[in-house]
Amino acid sequence: MLIGLCGGICAGKSSIANYLIDEHHFKRMFLNRTQSIPAVEKSASNTQVPSPETDRGEDLTFTDVQTLLDFVTLRWRERWVTTDIWDENVVDTLLRRPFFLLVSVEAPVSIRWERFRARCASRNLTPPLLSEFVLRNDAHLYTPITGLAPLLHRAQVKLLNSTTSLSSLRTSLAALDLPNDVRLRPSWDQYFMQLADLAAHRSNCMKRRVGCVLVREKRVISTGYNGTPRGMRNCNEGGCARCNEASRVGTDLGTCLCLHAEENALLEAGRERIREGSTLYCNTCPCLTCSVKITQVGISEVVYNQAYSVDTKAAEIFASGGVHLRQFTPPRDGLVDLSIAPPTNDTDRSPDALHNVILEEDYLHMAQELSGWYENEGTPVVLTPPKGYDAVMK
Ligand SMILES: [Zn+2]
Ligand SMILES: [Zn+2]
Ligand SMILES: [Zn+2]
Repeated sequence: MLIGLCGGICAGKSSIANYLIDEHHFKRMFLNRTQSIPAVEKSASNTQVPSPETDRGEDLTFTDVQTLLDFVTLRWRERWVTTDIWDENVVDTLLRRPFFLLVSVEAPVSIRWERFRARCASRNLTPPLLSEFVLRNDAHLYTPITGLAPLLHRAQVKLLNSTTSLSSLRTSLAALDLPNDVRLRPSWDQYFMQLADLAAHRSNCMKRRVGCVLVREKRVISTGYNGTPRGMRNCNEGGCARCNEASRVGTDLGTCLCLHAEENALLEAGRERIREGSTLYCNTCPCLTCSVKITQVGISEVVYNQAYSVDTKAAEIFASGGVHLRQFTPPRDGLVDLSIAPPTNDTDRSPDALHNVILEEDYLHMAQELSGWYENEGTPVVLTPPKGYDAVMK
């Protein structure tokens, strides 16, 4: 496994790399930059940008990305980490390989400036003003072609390091479980649920995007999304009057012309191809009428994603029909905000509290992915807005 960390000045790349080295037996590798180092990174207030102290092992420094890749390819079961994600070429080359994970680290510019100041102070250097740092940061991130911003957006895991909490650093990174192989290759559940999500994007129903995938022996039998029947105008083009009115969800269902995603998937597959052992993946929990049809055709298991809309009547149908119903929540993608603290207590497990319990479990799952670190351990961060800051904000 090779983890590439990219992020702005003082975002926290080296802190994470060091954590991976200390706790998960990663080895740090270095990649020389082929382009000249932009002036923005050479200086801050005309002083050398101080980088975190790192032991640059000569044998793990590579002159170009292909040589680095060849080295890791032969040793991909070992754990490697680099913060030298310089440009699109490096990212393009590494992302083709199944053992590479790109992780971006971002943090508010004011916090990064404080870290930078602390780093300068520890080396007796004159730190830049916030305004200078902002300009240099903008150039670093947004200069056309050489700017880092396009690389951050390609990361598979995106971390927002806005926390100033020191104590949760190691614990939170442990909960994040960055080296988990599932991050490199999705599990079957994740794979089929992502296919259902993709199907949902084809939905034309004005009420809700729903996608569904029918699977037997890990093979897709059919897919479906909701919308008006074949030959009719699409729902979003006015095909279903009920969906296009602003009626509340669950009312006037008898006048709706849209087929549900599950119905479309069942019709597409046909009774013959659905046998014992088939699983239905859906990005929402099936409704009552769909659950009746799902039970009748002999589906063995229903896996749903969004817990919020769990239909208790549908759950009863599945239970009495012998259909196993379970929830699968894929690992969070998008930006993981590391400043959100996990909940402290969770005691009410009564059936009446089902909704809350599901929400809490969802939240706990999310909380497991929380993380926090702080670059200048031991140096408290005190943010003092510069003069005129309030006026600018207003
Ligand atoms: Zn509709
Ligand atoms: Zn409708
Ligand atoms: Zn339905």
